[in-house]
Amino acid sequence: MNYHAYSVHNFRKIDQITVLTEEQRFDIEVVGHVLPFKVNNFVIEHLIDWHNIPHDPMFILTFPQRDMLLPHHFNAMAALIKTGADSDLIKAKAESIRLELNPHPAGQMSHNIPIHHDEKLEGTQHKYQQTVLFFPSQGQTCHTYCTFCFRWPQFVGMSELKFATREIELLIGYLHAHPEINDVLFTGGDPLIMSARHLAAYIQPLLDARLPHLRRIRIGTRALTYWPYRFLTDDDADALIALFKQVNDTGLHLAIMAHFNHPRELEPQPTRDALRRIQETGAVIRTQSPLLRHINDNSTVWADLWNKQVDLGCIPYYMFIARDTGAQHYFAVPLIKAWRIFREAYQQVSGLCRTVRGPSMSANPGKIQILGVTEIMGEKVIELRFIQGRNPDWVHRPFFAQYDEKATWLNELKPPFGEEKFFFEAELEQFYRENLNSPTIDNFE
Ligand SMILES: *Cc1c(COP(=O)(O)O)cnc(C)c1O
Repeated sequence: MNYHAYSVHNFRKIDQITVLTEEQRFDIEVVGHVLPFKVNNFVIEHLIDWHNIPHDPMFILTFPQRDMLLPHHFNAMAALIKTGADSDLIKAKAESIRLELNPHPAGQMSHNIPIHHDEKLEGTQHKYQQTVLFFPSQGQTCHTYCTFCFRWPQFVGMSELKFATREIELLIGYLHAHPEINDVLFTGGDPLIMSARHLAAYIQPLLDARLPHLRRIRIGTRALTYWPYRFLTDDDADALIALFKQVNDTGLHLAIMAHFNHPRELEPQPTRDALRRIQETGAVIRTQSPLLRHINDNSTVWADLWNKQVDLGCIPYYMFIARDTGAQHYFAVPLIKAWRIFREAYQQVSGLCRTVRGPSMSANPGKIQILGVTEIMGEKVIELRFIQGRNPDWVHRPFFAQYDEKATWLNELKPPFGEEKFFFEAELEQFYRENLNSPTIDNFE
């Protein structure tokens, strides 16, 4: 299957686009200059229901929508485009709007980059003891962009293969010094945008290093939804599958962390064939997704999603809260509503689907799960706990916040019972002081 991608510059050439009004097309053009926009022929032909525009979840997931920008941002960009402003001016405006959209949530860029022998390991994050995230420089783009994605600032130019060798050598050096690490998680972008040869340039040295404490390689990917031919008919699909098999044959566990937002993504036959082909290598596919208004904010959709995943041999893993970045105002679901949706969906599915955990916020102090709403000493409160913590000792201690119907993220929650701070806050502030020289709560994401 030949891959064709469209962007803000040529989406008007898509045949199906004629079902949109000129006003809708203009909205796409305006928003697509600010938020990521790239869509391919598989999504256009197999995922979007063009009879259900503009409400179709796959359309909203991949095509920029007017309300994804705040009105003043939209109007400013629309005015430039209407008056035929030159492209430098449009780019500068886009850049300034993006900077107002919290492009690097939860201290991703600055707080978690490890240092080894006085050298910063760019492209690596080590926040939770057992797992290190690795962003291979070749894998920082995707087959199609999700409109809610928080990693759009890194969708920039690609670097050369020679960096791969250097990057992976640094990582292996770091792993030697950190026996507490069991998992390396390749993420992006989408690492499976890479050719099998490039991916092997990262994975082979990791296997050859025979680190006794390295037990698992995880690969986060969206390719099963956006380009299943990656595993079936692309020129190097067989080489990719052979590489997966090799990881498992070496005695490591290969975990594919697949990202599916909507049950429709599991319908196309090529996706089902790709799932099967990956599973035949011995790899296990675990699934995760954020909860997104306009796309999957109801319990029936989630129950269907988990059921289909289990039917296809996948293991539901995480339900996330939409992050405080980009078009969060468009996608955000209040924490309490998220918990209700999770609970209602969870009640509808058998225990095999209940491996999923959530709803969870990947916030600066850690992954925080909303356990529910209850009443303690006459005060209505939200119960929470850490699934992962910057300090491992924070994990699985129930704690509480004041009840708040509207809060959509941790920084909007307040401690209950007249307390001034959450139990982890003093320690977190100390971490900020030591690592950032700025003890402000602005970064309390
Ligand atoms: C989610 C996450 C991980 C992986 O956590 P698991 O609970 O082991 O899946 C690792 N690092 C960061 C920064 C994360 O956000």
